[in-house]
Amino acid sequence: MVEFSSTNREAPPVNLREALLRGQAPDRGLYLPEWFPQVTPEEIAAFADLSYPEIAFRVLRKFTDGVVDDAALRALCAEAYNFDVPLEKVYGRVHVMRLDRGPTASFKDFAARMMARLLGRFIHETGHHLTILTATSGDTGAAVANAFHGVHGIRVLVLFPLNEVSDRQRKQMTTLTGNIRTVAIEGKFDDCQALVKRAFADETLLAARLSSANSINIGRLLPQTVYYFYAAARLAQPGEPMVFAVPSGNFGNMMGAVIAREMGLPLRRLVVPVNGNDEFPQFLKTGHYHKIEPSRNCLSNAMNVGHPSNLARLVAVYGGQMDETGKLRHKPDLARMQRDLFSSSVSDDQTRATIQRVWADFHLLLEPHGAVGWRGLMDFSAAEPLGDSPAVALETAHPAKFPDEIERLLGFAPEAPPALAAVDQLPEDFDRLPVDYDQFWKYLLTHYA
Ligand SMILES: *Cc1c(COP(=O)(O)O)cnc(C)c1O
Repeated sequence: MVEFSSTNREAPPVNLREALLRGQAPDRGLYLPEWFPQVTPEEIAAFADLSYPEIAFRVLRKFTDGVVDDAALRALCAEAYNFDVPLEKVYGRVHVMRLDRGPTASFKDFAARMMARLLGRFIHETGHHLTILTATSGDTGAAVANAFHGVHGIRVLVLFPLNEVSDRQRKQMTTLTGNIRTVAIEGKFDDCQALVKRAFADETLLAARLSSANSINIGRLLPQTVYYFYAAARLAQPGEPMVFAVPSGNFGNMMGAVIAREMGLPLRRLVVPVNGNDEFPQFLKTGHYHKIEPSRNCLSNAMNVGHPSNLARLVAVYGGQMDETGKLRHKPDLARMQRDLFSSSVSDDQTRATIQRVWADFHLLLEPHGAVGWRGLMDFSAAEPLGDSPAVALETAHPAKFPDEIERLLGFAPEAPPALAAVDQLPEDFDRLPVDYDQFWKYLLTHYA
């Protein structure tokens, strides 16, 4: 059975159930598998003929062994992954993988839907209940609320900044009823996050059993290994190394690829483009790490992260140690990181130009996050020609989530997929609170204690 140990190395290892229920380790580190179960080249080759949910089952069972029985896991995978995962050919062996066909049209659906189902099971086994509390600037809240909707024993409370989310983003949360509750905070995203952080640290709220669902939870990472195996099985010859380009913010998505590689997936290079928040490419170049505070506001807003929380995990995989504040206690093997990874920073101007360019050249429709990914792949191929390598750039959101920007750049608004359009007609329900911890505290006690 795979156990999980903390990147800070001062907490005992735990099984998958404990790791998911805890989120962060008691020493404030992040959980990582103690060893990486292997997927053989023959297994990967066999994935070529299997459906996405079946591949998810065969990869994830290596981590759930001893904690969730196979029949149950197979059912969870079929339920969670009931949507398409298109691999769109752009030219030669270069593809875009669209991870935007889930119910909230962002790649976060892949992880949130599996984590919600696993956590629902584990909570049922403990006989307790749990309240997932999360602050959102848009995408995470929608994916988490949607994923946990209807899961017994778990209630979700999402805080969002009243005037900072789009109508469609808000409706993706506020049209859900039952165990989902949303509160508009009369302030900014930072105010929402400050309220949430204070509540987590508040011992008078223990009865509410608050927990988080952000990507510090290993349950948000393991499901993100699956689509790398899926793409390789369909595009590469057995054993042939791939290039993936992953537009990155908190580095949860790219860690899915790193874990997949540790499990045996052959990668020629993992390309990790970022927006103007360029702390990682600087680190990769120099070995010196400086977070960016406050983070820079860029077009690809879900990647506006000045200190990726998953960097501690990446450093650990490369033999180093980084604490939760971003301090390097031990240096990782930088030379090996430079061989495995490539990272460039893509400006907003380059992002916009990329959206126009790929539409003109290939009729390929990208939104700002996917455009950063594509541009990063092109930066890599300028440094080291792709040649005949199979390569995939990830598109992490549906272009219809950014209708105004796309319309300005291309002259038309992308059609909304049915899942996005459906919420337009549903009635909304949400509460409203000022930026005031005492009122928020009373609200929590009233509804959750
Ligand atoms: C969250 C998000 C990202 C960044 O993913 P990380 O795992 O945080 O690196 C990229 N694109 C979109 C659309 C997102 O919502």
